[in-house]
Amino acid sequence: MPAVMWFRRDLRLRDNPALLEACADGAVLPLFVLDPALWEPAGPARRAYLAASLRSLAGDLPLAVVTGDPVRRVVQAAVEVGAERVHVAADFGPYGHARDLAVEQALAEAGVELVRTGSPYAVAPGRVTSGAGTPFKVFTPYSKAWADHGWRDPVDPPPDPTWLGLAETADLPDAEAEGVELPEAGEAAARRQWAGFLDRVGDYGDDRDRPGVDGTSRMSPHLKWGEVHPRTLLADLARLRSDGAATYRKELAWREFYADVLFAHPHSARDYLKPDYARMRYDDPADHLEAWCQGRTGFPVVDAGMRQLRAIGWMHNRVRMIVASFLVKDLHVEWQHGARHFMHSLVDGDLASNQHGWQWVAGSGTDASPYFRVFNPTTQGRKFDPDATYVRQWVPELADLPEGADPHDPSPADRDEVGYPQPIVDHAAERREALARYEEIR
Ligand SMILES: Cc1cc2nc3c(=O)[nH]c(=O)nc-3n(C[C@H](O)[C@H](O)[C@H](O)COP(=O)(O)OP(=O)(O)OC[C@H]3O[C@@H](n4cnc5c(N)ncnc54)[C@H](O)[C@@H]3O)c2cc1C
Repeated sequence: MPAVMWFRRDLRLRDNPALLEACADGAVLPLFVLDPALWEPAGPARRAYLAASLRSLAGDLPLAVVTGDPVRRVVQAAVEVGAERVHVAADFGPYGHARDLAVEQALAEAGVELVRTGSPYAVAPGRVTSGAGTPFKVFTPYSKAWADHGWRDPVDPPPDPTWLGLAETADLPDAEAEGVELPEAGEAAARRQWAGFLDRVGDYGDDRDRPGVDGTSRMSPHLKWGEVHPRTLLADLARLRSDGAATYRKELAWREFYADVLFAHPHSARDYLKPDYARMRYDDPADHLEAWCQGRTGFPVVDAGMRQLRAIGWMHNRVRMIVASFLVKDLHVEWQHGARHFMHSLVDGDLASNQHGWQWVAGSGTDASPYFRVFNPTTQGRKFDPDATYVRQWVPELADLPEGADPHDPSPADRDEVGYPQPIVDHAAERREALARYEEIR
């Protein structure tokens, strides 16, 4: 019996249980629906990356791309090929979950079943709960339950699939991100990136917090689009004994934790997880948001991060925390404004990790860092970028400072000399202001 494999965030052949299930039914239509509701808000970097990833997948199988509302398009495709089942990996995000319920109902009306096999996670959101049966709110007990729950071994690619096509399909999307240097997309590129990183994973524990060092895996866009499954990475890590491998596994658990939290609290994609924080006094974003987005705040590590984001659609994790803290606690702008800019600009933009990364920094999220711990951007820069490699790379003016100047805190005269802005705020004063506002809602 023919089947449909509806690809979404699983753009790969290997270790793809939903695809295996589809192939077990018989001949398979490999389908991708370009949904305007997701494509429009994605931003140029993510669109261009997705287009490249689809081109790569289309090199491995005859991918049928159609454009429009999945509720209509998936049913049409299933009916056209005479499929009785449409196979997917379950989507746990607020939009994807609701969309799948609507598609499932529309398919049922046409006598077709929607079959969910696996998800983009090693442990599906909602699968592990606290002793009381409620979703976890704190990372450490979650990560323990997550590890205890475990996951299956990776599966092989389908042995010899027979592919079906549609009479009419759309062209593969052709999107460019002008001026943004993106990583290579696709399953083969993801595997190469991972193999290269495995040689360095032993140093990950030491290097991961140094933005001037190529110490992290850069797997986030590949994971975002499912060009590789985290289970594949976890299987490789399990063969290693290093502390770096253990630390990396923990970072993957953060990704799964945030997906779990968002699934349990879908409103937290837009609203405060801790509602008290909505009462905090915030400033009009018009005052400083643009300087922050452009990387012209006069705080070197903040500007380096924001310029890195503009240039390559990616930013180092340590710097994501610093720039987010600066926006919320030094500029007193609500986290949603920063999260929106990130989602627009990031090639790895992922609703769960992004919104909860922001809420963590803003103090309003699960497991949040205490609000009163305000990052000092200058000392953070000196600590994590001690030789200033990172700030000099992304803020080239700072590479021209005179001998002996501190690239993390140049003097007013040196700033004028090299054309770098003066600080737009006084960090010490804004820290006091942030703490005063926090006292008001305590
Ligand atoms: C404000 C803010 C916004 C963020 N937005 C996103 C986002 O939109 N998409 C995204 O994938 N990550 C996001 N993160 C998490 C993290 O910054 C990135 O996953 C990481 O920088 C990606 O680079 P890497 O693959 O080299 O990471 P590595 O250090 O190599 O980590 C390996 C993988 O573990 C996961 N991971 C690591 N740290 C985290 C974390 N703190 N939270 C969740 N997962 C993590 C990612 O899947 C990552 O690819 C955000 C963090 C913050 C503080």
